[in-house]
Amino acid sequence: MKKCKICGKEFEPHYGNVKYCSDKCRETGKTLSIRKYCRNHAEELREKSRVYSKKIREMAGFEPHRCKICGEVIGNNRQSYCLDCLVKKACGKNISERRHARDVLFCRGYDAGMIQYEGEERGYI
Ligand SMILES: [Zn+2]
Ligand SMILES: [Zn+2]
Repeated sequence: MKKCKICGKEFEPHYGNVKYCSDKCRETGKTLSIRKYCRNHAEELREKSRVYSKKIREMAGFEPHRCKICGEVIGNNRQSYCLDCLVKKACGKNISERRHARDVLFCRGYDAGMIQYEGEERGYI
C-alpha cells in the first residue's frame, strides 16, 4: 500500500512509481509542483519572459527602425536609408547626394557595377 501525497489516502498502486491515489490528486500534484518550480525559479523565469517579450516586440516590428526618406522599415538600425532610396540617390542628379549614397553603398559592399545594376533593375537609370 502507498499513501497519496495529496490527500493522504492509502491506495494500491498499479505500478511502482505512482504517488497519487487518483487522477484528481495527480492533477493537483502537478499544479503544486509547477507552482513550486515557479517559486524556485522565479528569477530565471522572469528573465526568460523578459527576453521572450523583447523577441516578440522585435518580431512584431515594435519600435521599428525606418528609412529616413521613404519610411520603409529596415532591420538594421545602424542604417539610415533603405537600399531602394540609396540606389535612387546613387543614380540621381544631385551630385553630393549621389556621392554620399555611393559611399554608403560602397561601405555595404556594393561596387559601381552593382549599383548600376540595382539602379537599372529599379528603373532609376
Ligand atoms: Zn489522493
Ligand atoms: Zn527608403
